[in-house]
Amino acid sequence: MRTTFFAIAATLFAVSAHANPPNVVTDVAPIHSLVAQVMKGVAEPILLVPAKTSPHGHSLKVSQARALTEADIIFWVGEGLTPSIKKAINSLAENATAVKLMDATGITLLGYDESIEKEDHEHHHHGDGHGSHDPHIWLDPENARVIVMAVAEVLVTQDPDNAERYRANAIAADDALNQLIKETTARTAEIRDHRYIVYHDGYRYFEERFNLGRAIPIANSHAANPGAKRLAEIREALTQTRANCVFAEKQFGTRTVDSLIRGTDAVTAELDPMGQGFETGPALYAALIRDLSKTMVGCLR
Ligand SMILES: [Zn+2]
Repeated sequence: MRTTFFAIAATLFAVSAHANPPNVVTDVAPIHSLVAQVMKGVAEPILLVPAKTSPHGHSLKVSQARALTEADIIFWVGEGLTPSIKKAINSLAENATAVKLMDATGITLLGYDESIEKEDHEHHHHGDGHGSHDPHIWLDPENARVIVMAVAEVLVTQDPDNAERYRANAIAADDALNQLIKETTARTAEIRDHRYIVYHDGYRYFEERFNLGRAIPIANSHAANPGAKRLAEIREALTQTRANCVFAEKQFGTRTVDSLIRGTDAVTAELDPMGQGFETGPALYAALIRDLSKTMVGCLR
């Protein structure tokens, strides 16, 4: 009896050790989606900043602090996107591996648009945590490919029992991203030289990858409220350039955009760079990129 009991206990222990993957936390929904693709069939990562919240103005809640405390691995873009998380990672997640994806080898980084940043700095003081690069890196699907591979590498090291699964998932995700890039390049070809206005300066990675015209942003890349001077400039751009499509954003509402286009012949549509309109999970990333390109083409063609 005794031997049998121990034999069963040993087997149970071995099985549960294999089936005990690391506790993975991610910052925003698009990153969560890419990590979820790599972890498919093993476990689901936790999403820290809910999709309905803009990461720029996010502040950490008690439940989110707890998730950080319990994390084994944290995948996050960087303090330029979520200043709220930086301090929390340092103080709460001492034992976790924090992987800052802006630092991943092979990531394409773009600088801020200096003209808009400077102007807004006169009106608003950004605290610390203001990185030196535009943090919206996931809007370049080539960066998403780099992220998937970087995430797989960390998971393989930290959880070797599931290494094969992570590797196979990463390869499948990479294939799908390649297809998505081809599809998006073809779809956006007809709007290549168009100018347009966006709510905040978050689309440079998308524009650069797909050779689109540079958007005229109302607010800077940290989505600080635009000052009166900036709004006047946008109104002028609306009448003087042919940028007659003004994109609002789910995360910031439509009020500013609605009042800007009142009395002009400009049209508006809503962009969703955080994937707020989609169910969180593996499929969100491609849905977000597809929706972005379709909405842009629909408004600009
Ligand atoms: Zn943003």
